[in-house]
Amino acid sequence: MQTLDDRKKEIELLMRYAVPEAHRQEAAAVVETYGGDSIVLNLLHNFYSRLPDAVDDGIKTLRLLARSQGTFLFCATTFLNDYLYIASLAEVFYLGKLADGIAEEEVLRFFGFADQQIFADRTRNLDGFGNHTPAGLDNALCPVCAVADGEYHTLGCPVELCPWCNGQLTRCNCRFEQLGLEQLEDEADVEKLREKLEAAGRVPFATEQRPAYPTMDDNEDEVEPELI
Ligand SMILES: [Zn+2]
Ligand SMILES: [Zn+2]
Repeated sequence: MQTLDDRKKEIELLMRYAVPEAHRQEAAAVVETYGGDSIVLNLLHNFYSRLPDAVDDGIKTLRLLARSQGTFLFCATTFLNDYLYIASLAEVFYLGKLADGIAEEEVLRFFGFADQQIFADRTRNLDGFGNHTPAGLDNALCPVCAVADGEYHTLGCPVELCPWCNGQLTRCNCRFEQLGLEQLEDEADVEKLREKLEAAGRVPFATEQRPAYPTMDDNEDEVEPELI
């Protein structure tokens, strides 16, 4: 299980080859700011391992354009361009340059934009979008998977409560008992579990759950999906 610190070190290593000398300090400060935010670390890792335009560059500002069900639409402003990313605890997608907009209607609608034109109008001036608040510091969101009050956690989030025993879903044995398995082997098992959970009634995130998680930093090996 990779800890947040390991992830951060990997990103810092990638940055040695990716960020021009003159911008290293500024780019490193961004990694520091989001060192406890698994979702942003996913994005940074993706950026620095692929470099969308295949030229040396670095992220200097990260703005949150929209958020839905634990999935974030980010604009990463680099020293050369503005890039769009979709990121969640589970995965990251590079969408393209901000100037090219978003072509997929499904994506636009998921994030609450009626069409491409509205997206373009709203994002023409990025000043209206503040810097993204690191996940653990935004009191309205699950500190790990960043869903909002009333939304379901990303499956595998250690904050999700078990509907069968009310314990920590990634720690209790209910999932094995329910599936009649010794362990979960693959995606198909996880899907079966998802169905069972939904039938039993998943416990959505509630902001009052947050105080039970004051020491996420001491518990870094628990903050990645770990259902399997
Ligand atoms: Zn969560
Ligand atoms: Zn349980």
